[in-house]
Amino acid sequence: MTPEYFAKRLAREKQARKEAEQLLERKSAQLYEANQQLLRINAQLEAQAKDLAIARDAALELTKTRSMFLANMSHEIRTPLNGVVGMTELVLESKLSAEQREYLSMAKTSANSLLSLINAILDLSKIEAGSLEIEAIPFSLQDLVNETVYPFRLHAAQKGLAFSSEMAANVPRRVVGDPGRIRQVITNLVGNAIKFTSSGEVSLRVRDGEVTACGEVPLQFAVRDTGIGIPRDKQNTIFNAFTQVDGSITRRFGGTGLGLSIAAKLVEMMSGRIWVESEPGQGSTFHFTVLVKVDDMAIEQQVATAMAAPRWEVGIGSAGHQPLRLLVAEDNPVNTRLMSALLLRQGHAVQMVSNGRDAVQAFQPGRFDAILMDVSMPEMDGFEATAAIRRIERELGQRRTPIVALTAHAMKGDMERCIEAGMDDYLSKPIRSADLFEKLSRLITVPVS
Ligand code: ADP
Repeated sequence: MTPEYFAKRLAREKQARKEAEQLLERKSAQLYEANQQLLRINAQLEAQAKDLAIARDAALELTKTRSMFLANMSHEIRTPLNGVVGMTELVLESKLSAEQREYLSMAKTSANSLLSLINAILDLSKIEAGSLEIEAIPFSLQDLVNETVYPFRLHAAQKGLAFSSEMAANVPRRVVGDPGRIRQVITNLVGNAIKFTSSGEVSLRVRDGEVTACGEVPLQFAVRDTGIGIPRDKQNTIFNAFTQVDGSITRRFGGTGLGLSIAAKLVEMMSGRIWVESEPGQGSTFHFTVLVKVDDMAIEQQVATAMAAPRWEVGIGSAGHQPLRLLVAEDNPVNTRLMSALLLRQGHAVQMVSNGRDAVQAFQPGRFDAILMDVSMPEMDGFEATAAIRRIERELGQRRTPIVALTAHAMKGDMERCIEAGMDDYLSKPIRSADLFEKLSRLITVPVS
């Protein structure tokens, strides 16, 4: 290895390093430039997003202002229009020539159509402006349905249509919700059903779903008709504002195309949904659900009366099963309330007592379908009371009334003690309504010897 060789190699390495450094510098410059470009794009995007947010807020504000304007206008128009309708009716009641009566009746019909259009616009704009409130007031569902369909019975009869309305037995009769808005949706659907049906029948059915833990229950309404039906591709769009299936047909029938979109919005505000099943030429079924509360006040009142003196309190609902006559012995006031509310809500008839002695006194063979017996109670506990009841049954030669123990702690051996004392089953607290009803239905359907 000569010194020249080393010198040459050193020079070659220096050159290579220099070239690598230059390459690195070029790449860093490119990266820097790319980064700058990204920063510029980012700044542009941010500016655009800001502009879009401003435009969106302005559009929302505009919609709100427009809706507020519409709401105010339709409200203002309604007042004089009501005057026109009212006055026309007054004149119609007076002595008129046939011709005058005909003209005035036409004026009244037109004024009424205008009034429904204005009412619909008022509703829709109020909903869009977010100023429509859903009320929560207690009311009788049965009365609401009866009153709402009453005028339609006549209308259907005039068209030669059969009309029926039916409420399932288990639907709670008193609920808390917005009766005015529920009535509005039913009115729209039943009105449409009669409008678009020339022969056959129209029916309204009301059912309910599972009661939630917080006492809410979904009501399910179905309005069925045997009318013209709705083509499949229109079955969703009819829920949009100003949409009608066929202009020529609906012009014949009248209408605004606003009813269903308002109904859909109202139902949504009541935590429900609306949909249609339809076969063109066969008819349609419009379904909608709304969430209401079971009227606890009514139940509370029943519970309070039931606790004040042991006498029959009959529930205001039922879960589709046969209502039972139950004796409940429970000393804890909170549990008493819970038990009686649960049972009354299911439509059972209940007598409440707060100790074992009163339970024995209230007992008569055949008087109750079952007894729910707390285990630890003052005066006489559940075991003693059960033993006394079994003794009475034996002495009178009567069949055993099922007794379900309610125990605070599901201790090992509890079941044995309960059975030994003459009970048929036991439930451990806190009582779950599903367990309670499952136990009751099992005990009552299987005859106890
Ligand atoms: P309107 O009835 O005032 O036109 P709606 O919003 O209530 O407005 O209904 C929208 C359209 O949906 C109706 O114009 C009609 O074409 C169709 N439609 C609604 N209900 C029925 C029905 N029961 N049978 C057939 N078509 C219906």
